[in-house]
Parts: sequence; structure tokens; C-alpha cells
Amino acid sequence: MPWWQRNFPEIPVPGVSTMTKGRHHSDFSDVIGNRKKHHHNQCDKCHSLDDRRARGFASGLDREEYERDNAAHDKEIEDWRIVERYWMMTASQSPHLYNLVCADDTEKLCLPHWGTRNFKSTASSSTVRFIPWLVFDSSNGIWRYLYQPKNMWRKGANRYCTSMYYVIKGLKERAPSNQARTLVVIADNLSENKCNVNFAFYSGM
Ligand SMILES: [Zn+2]
Repeated sequence: MPWWQRNFPEIPVPGVSTMTKGRHHSDFSDVIGNRKKHHHNQCDKCHSLDDRRARGFASGLDREEYERDNAAHDKEIEDWRIVERYWMMTASQSPHLYNLVCADDTEKLCLPHWGTRNFKSTASSSTVRFIPWLVFDSSNGIWRYLYQPKNMWRKGANRYCTSMYYVIKGLKERAPSNQARTLVVIADNLSENKCNVNFAFYSGM
């Protein structure tokens, strides 16, 4: 409403039904309807930019500053994607020189889980929950899940190194990835909360 009043001060704000009907007007035929729900990975900066955009949309303030910061952050993301693609391609082309491992926790999985949806009688509190840990093995070019019971072990460097030990062991047990002398690891928050233990672990390997 504040946005409308700011942009069209002489026209009264239309009702909700007018807005809803307008959505199906032929002028908007190029807009894709009913998109599938999906989640972007977002960092703290993305969240604060989202906040500023929402507040700026209502107040009309901070717009130029927001657009500048948003473009700068978009550039950061794009640059990071280029680095990521570079290592994906380099490691898959030269598995005898580089081992690349990408790893991240994914959304929890509740069992028993029959078919595509839970039984009505299966209360969520009585399910066994697993955290699928998604890991990319560059020498074979495949993604694998490693299932760990939720809340069984503390999240942190110890658990991380234990899982990573078996991933790297797998790489070192087959050719040509066992010849590589350089390991590249892409994982979230690696430098923030697990840094020292992880680097000590990789050095030890
Ligand atoms: Zn971000």
C-alpha cells in the first residue's frame, strides 16, 4: 500500500480481488505461474539485504544504497560460482593431480517413511531422524549421501573429520585419484567454526 501511494498518489489503492484478477491479465502471460518451491542457500548478508529490501519497499528509503550493496553481493556470489566451477572442471579433468571434495548437511530424513508421504499414525516425535550428509567425489563425478542419526553426535570438527576420513580413504584406494597430491575441500562454514581442527586433520592425512 505505501508503495502504491508513493507511485500513484492520485489513484485510490485497488482492492485485493482486483489485484488477484489482474495477475491473470494477458499482459502478465510471460510470468511463470505456480513455481515449484525451492530454497536458495543464503548467507547472513543475503538475509540482511532481504530485510532492507522489504523495509525499503514500504518506506521508499535506502533504495539506491540497497541496490548498490545488492549488486556488489551478487557479484561476490557470481565470482564464487566461477571458482567452484573451475575446481569442479579441473578436478574432473585431472583426477591424478587434484582431489576435490564438496560436502554439506542436507534436510533431515524421518523414518519410517513409506512411499512418498508419512503414515497419518506416525507421529513425528516417534520417528528416527537422520541427517543426510551430501558429499561429492570428484574422481568418480558422483554425489553420495552419508546418513547419520540426528543428535547422536555433536556437530563440529570431530564428526566432520570422522566422515571426511572415510571419503578421503575412498579416494586414496583407487586409481587415478590415489596419485593426486592436492586436496581441495568446499564446505560451508569451514573456515569459521572448524578451521584449526580441520587443517590439522588434512595436514595429518
Ligand atoms: Zn549471500
